[in-house]
Amino acid sequence: MSPITTDPAPLLIGGQLRPASGGREFDVLNPATEDLVGRAADATTEDMDAAIAAARTAFDTTTWSSDHAFRARCLRQLRDALQSHIEELRELTIAEVGAPHMFTAGPQLEGPVADLGWLADLVDAYEWTEDLGESEIMGVKSNRSTRREAIGVVGAITPWNFPNQINMAKIGPALAAGCTVVLKPAPDTPLIAAAVARIAAEETEIPEGVLNIVSSSDHGVGAQLTTDPRVDLVSFTGSTATGKKIMVSAAETLKKVFLELGGKSAAVVLDDADLGTAAFMTALNACTHAGQGCALTTRLLVPREKYDEAIEAAKGAMAGFAPNDPNDPGTFCGPVISAAQRERIEGYIRLAREEGGTIELGGGRPSGDDKDKGFWIEPTLISGLDNSARVAQEEIFGPVLVVIPHDGDADAIRIANDSPYGLSGAVWGTDPERVEKVVAGIRTGTLGVNGGQWYGADVPFGGYKQSGIGREMGREGFEEYLEVKAVATPA
Ligand code: NAD
Repeated sequence: MSPITTDPAPLLIGGQLRPASGGREFDVLNPATEDLVGRAADATTEDMDAAIAAARTAFDTTTWSSDHAFRARCLRQLRDALQSHIEELRELTIAEVGAPHMFTAGPQLEGPVADLGWLADLVDAYEWTEDLGESEIMGVKSNRSTRREAIGVVGAITPWNFPNQINMAKIGPALAAGCTVVLKPAPDTPLIAAAVARIAAEETEIPEGVLNIVSSSDHGVGAQLTTDPRVDLVSFTGSTATGKKIMVSAAETLKKVFLELGGKSAAVVLDDADLGTAAFMTALNACTHAGQGCALTTRLLVPREKYDEAIEAAKGAMAGFAPNDPNDPGTFCGPVISAAQRERIEGYIRLAREEGGTIELGGGRPSGDDKDKGFWIEPTLISGLDNSARVAQEEIFGPVLVVIPHDGDADAIRIANDSPYGLSGAVWGTDPERVEKVVAGIRTGTLGVNGGQWYGADVPFGGYKQSGIGREMGREGFEEYLEVKAVATPA
């Protein structure tokens, strides 16, 4: 095992690690320091064309899609190879993403690497065929069965906030299903993807063309995946605005789209809940990775009579999650990814003031010598607005929590659902019947009750409404990459 070198980060096309045609590269900055982490190959449309061609050829002309045992072996090899480089990957993840060290033990790194093993086990255990028995229709007796087959070439487009998790949650099930893949990572985080490219190419038997990884500073290069007729499925995670564009451009070739999009999730606190714990955990959640998580709870809905108490509790908790060096094992809240992202968050904080809200905590950039460089923003708590405010309706993607009063369980459900999104949420309460009614009433793809954690390889994750179409992870996430063929033979 040699160290992974990702500077400059290569493309992986047709089994070859190579620079972009024309040799262009782009810089990747450390969001905590603004230092250069490395440079990445800046793919052109010709490179993307070659990657799609390689994936198509590998799908159409090899036994990859039918050799289940070989694929399971390759997935385990990829997991083991990534694990053998885990400390290098951790360092890179912290530097490239600004991800707090603590989360690399879970969803930022170690979780998604381990999950490849779960997928390999699923490939081994999966019922690829099902016997539907004999039937007779218009005098013809037939034996019927179904078989599950890989959908074909997958174009995977991913964001920057949890790049290991989201890259693996697409590559893993797609390869497990027998698909071939072209992954286009976010322009902010190409190095992690290139590390996977290098490890897959040099330390696994994954055949050439099966996994292609193409970084580019130009969103348009990724957009080719959405229009090219050789691509069968686009698996996208990112903003709802981009998801809509992808759905429109994929319509021309009627390819399947699988979308994991934004969220504005609510933590609903019932009047019998432990308010202190609920407010603390919601504040922690909102500050996690500087609020750059699609499923984090960013609206705290509390009984009106406990509004002031809830604000004080959340304020006290958030004050304890001041942004800090992501290398520090105690840090929850690191920097945000870029200057542009920080400006976007600051724009929302200005908007909250203009709409009549009160900034209870934060609202600015933290001071200190170690914060002169880097994209830092203070955890910010907003009160005095109702759910119609734009900061309560729109995804901010920063450490910003809005506290909103409710008038009982039904009202809390109404407010939680008064959102274009439906990704996740939390419910806090002690009466199981009341909690169950709220769980049943909230229209989201995941919910945590009284601190329960739903994240896991076997748990489907995704959104209702404008938070997406389809499910990632779990058996459901794997089956997104499969077609179903029904076959009948004379009985
Ligand atoms: P984004 O939508 O700007 O970009 C995501 C990816 O899409 C990037 O790789 C980008 O290069 C690419 N892209 C941009 N325009 C494109 C186009 N027209 N055609 C094809 N590709 C295009 O999102 P982002 O800023 O990178 O990530 C943040 C967003 O992602 C947030 O809205 C967040 O909620 C969402 N997100 C959702 C999930 C989920 O699972 N639901 C997970 C993480 C992040």
